[in-house]
Parts: sequence; C-alpha cells; structure tokens
Amino acid sequence: MLKGKSALVTGSTSGIGRAIALALAAEGANVTINGFGDKAVIEQERAAIEKKFGVKAIYSGADMTKPTEIADMVRMAEKTFGALDILVNNAGIQHVANVEDFPVEKWDAIIAINLSSSFHTIRAALPGMKKRQWGRIINIASAHGLVASAQKVAYVSAKHGLVGMTKVVAIECANSGITCNAICPGWVLTPLVQAQIDARAKASGRPVREEEIALLAEKQPMHQFTTPENIGALAVFLASDAAATITGSAYSIDGGWTAA
Ligand code: NAD
Repeated sequence: MLKGKSALVTGSTSGIGRAIALALAAEGANVTINGFGDKAVIEQERAAIEKKFGVKAIYSGADMTKPTEIADMVRMAEKTFGALDILVNNAGIQHVANVEDFPVEKWDAIIAINLSSSFHTIRAALPGMKKRQWGRIINIASAHGLVASAQKVAYVSAKHGLVGMTKVVAIECANSGITCNAICPGWVLTPLVQAQIDARAKASGRPVREEEIALLAEKQPMHQFTTPENIGALAVFLASDAAATITGSAYSIDGGWTAA
C-alpha cells in the first residue's frame, strides 16, 4: 500500500514508535528510524527491517530537544529517499509529580520532546510535502491530549498542545494534498507505562500485576491494554489513500477512556 513512500518515525527505537515503523515498512515504505538506545541493537533492528520487508531503512540519532539536529534528520531522510512523505511524531517521555513539586527541568524536557519537536519536524518537512502536493503527518498524542489526570501537568499540557498543533497544520495544508491527524491512545504497555506501574507497586507494596489491573481500571472502561501493533495499524490507515480527506482529527484508541 505504501510502496515507494518514505516515512520518518521519531522515537522508533522502542514501544509504539517501533511498531509504527515496522507497520509502515510492512506496507512497503522506506523508513527513517530515530531514538535512543544501544547502538548495536539499533543497527540490528535497522538491518532486520530491510531484510524482512525488502525496504531501505536508515537511522538518525537526532535528539528531539535539539532543533538543529531535528532539521538535519529531516534533510537526511529527504536526501536519502528523495522525499519525506509520511512523518510520524511519536517521541515522548513522562514524569509524574504534583504541580508544585514538578521539577522545572522535567517540564522543559517534556515540552521540548512531546510538543516542540513536532513543530520542528513539521516545519522542516512541509516545504517538500507542499512541493510534491502529498504528505501525511501523524502526531502521537494521547488520551491526555483530550482529558487530564493529576500529576501529569507537563505531559497533559504538551499533548493538548499537540492536538491543537494538529488542527492548525490540517487547516493550513487542507488544499495541498497533505493531511495531519493525531492518534490518542489510552494505556499501551510499553517501557514508558511499565515505569509508572513499577513505581506504583514500589509505593504500595502490592504485586506489579495487581497495579497493572488497578492502573487500567482507574481510567479505562475496557480493562485491556491497546497494543503498539494496534496503533501501527491505525497509522497505516491514516497514511493510506482511503484516509485522504481525514484531517485535523484526533483519533481515540483508548478502551473507552475518553467516553466515560
Ligand atoms: P517508549 O518509552 O517505549 O518510547 C519512547 C521513544 O522515544 C524511544 O524510542 C526513546 O528513545 C525516544 N526518545 C525519548 N527521548 C528522546 C529524545 N530526546 N530524542 C529522540 N528520541 C527520544 O514510549 P511509548 O509508550 O512507546 O511512547 C511513544 C509515544 O506514545 C509517546 O509520545 C507517548 O507519550 C505516547 N503515548 C503512550 C501511551 C502509553 O500508554 N504507552 C499512551 C498514550 C500516548
């Protein structure tokens, strides 16, 4: 479905981003992967994508807090593949604390990685997309882009901001062949969420499995994690021709979280 397209997924060395990169590659897209991690493991994964899906895959170690590295990453994708057609803004981090205890450096890092990095990638990618009159921008927001939870001031602010950014880009690009949508997942069991479950288990003294169920039950009518692969499939749909007129939307994939 995406043969010959070029996709860039930020934060794709783990969790949701990795699953999205694999899903796009499985549909024939060449991919630029990005994120932190063990260099040897990342190289293994990059090579495995090429072998398994018969596409080309490159890696950028760009730090999403650094605008110049972000611009260089977009240029590298365009130079290597001749275009950047599908941009997935996925890199994200979390920190949990009450507002008055929230460390300023954590606020700055979350706003930079979970919000500003998407502005920088989109800003760099749009001229090429507009020239070719085709583009798909998919922002991985969150249920926290639509509703709030206590102790997540930076994350909730960043994700609400990202949903807003999605709408602005959608409107500006409405007649340029470019769509921009947000995906708003509920709980997905990735390292980002596992850290929150482990912290809860440590604080309560209860088994990790019990805290896992409690975490789900607090927010989601459906007591089930969304899988990274579920989100990969939604990203593939939003990148497809079938989704050509879907723009400015925030797609919930959250086990009913924001319906309750
Ligand atoms: P994860 O921790 O498994 O992966 C995060 C990725 O971002 C990693 O590849 C990491 O290396 C990369 N990253 C972090 N800081 C970076 C930086 N400065 N520069 C470049 N890359 C950086 O997390 P995940 O759960 O897969 O989360 C992915 C996205 O999905 C995030 O934006 C998160 O907010 C969002 N999300 C997650 C959930 C969930 O339940 N897991 C729910 C809703 C939204």
